[in-house]
Amino acid sequence: MRKITIAIDGHSSCGKSTMAKDLAREIGYIYIDSGAMYRCCTLFCIEQGLIKADGTPDAEALENRMQEIHVSFRLNPDTGRPDTYLNGENVETRIRTMEVSGLVSPVAALPFVRAAMTAQQQAMGREGGIVMDGRDIGTAVFPHAEMKVFVTASDEIRAQRRYDELVAKGEQPDFEAVLQNLRERDHIDSTRAVAPLRQADDALVLDNSHMTIAEQKQWLLDRFKERVED
Ligand code: C5P
Repeated sequence: MRKITIAIDGHSSCGKSTMAKDLAREIGYIYIDSGAMYRCCTLFCIEQGLIKADGTPDAEALENRMQEIHVSFRLNPDTGRPDTYLNGENVETRIRTMEVSGLVSPVAALPFVRAAMTAQQQAMGREGGIVMDGRDIGTAVFPHAEMKVFVTASDEIRAQRRYDELVAKGEQPDFEAVLQNLRERDHIDSTRAVAPLRQADDALVLDNSHMTIAEQKQWLLDRFKERVED
């Protein structure tokens, strides 16, 4: 059976990654978390002192050092899921903190950051057989993807999911701060000049506010089967 390209976009913390990972595993495709790539650029800024005193990224310094950022993914045999590596180091946990979440959208809005990450994502998907999730996958990275899904859910439900995830990792987040962060990210992501978050005209829309993970997984699998049988 021919292998297609699947683009899953949507708002922050709407469960895209969980759905995308599950689908990829089920159908034997490669899964790429494009958000993890922007999170790596942000972690690089934090660790290399490229955040200015006013809390914004030092764009000029980062642009000069973009060549030093190499992101890759390797399967973690314990979880059965890919972990994110920045310059050969496993940063899967370090890129998911509130500090990184608070800075990632301004970093991801920088045109040279987008150009570099988009080029890498397109190279990863050249052969098809890929499920990639993010904000601009169906609109900018793979505008010709055979299957596009746009996922959303209410702000409060998304914040609660993110909050529960952080608690499960041993963090003690403040619910209001989590809610505020995802609203801020959605705003920056949707209004930036380059490749803003928007629903592709040919995307299937899924509001998963009241769906279980198992229901979402089945929905996505059914849509995939319809698409490849077309
Ligand atoms: O998916 P995740 O929430 O981990 O993404 C983190 C951030 O990376 C998003 O809020 C957004 O600013 C940026 N991003 C992006 N384009 C993508 C994926 C993520 O701008 N394709």
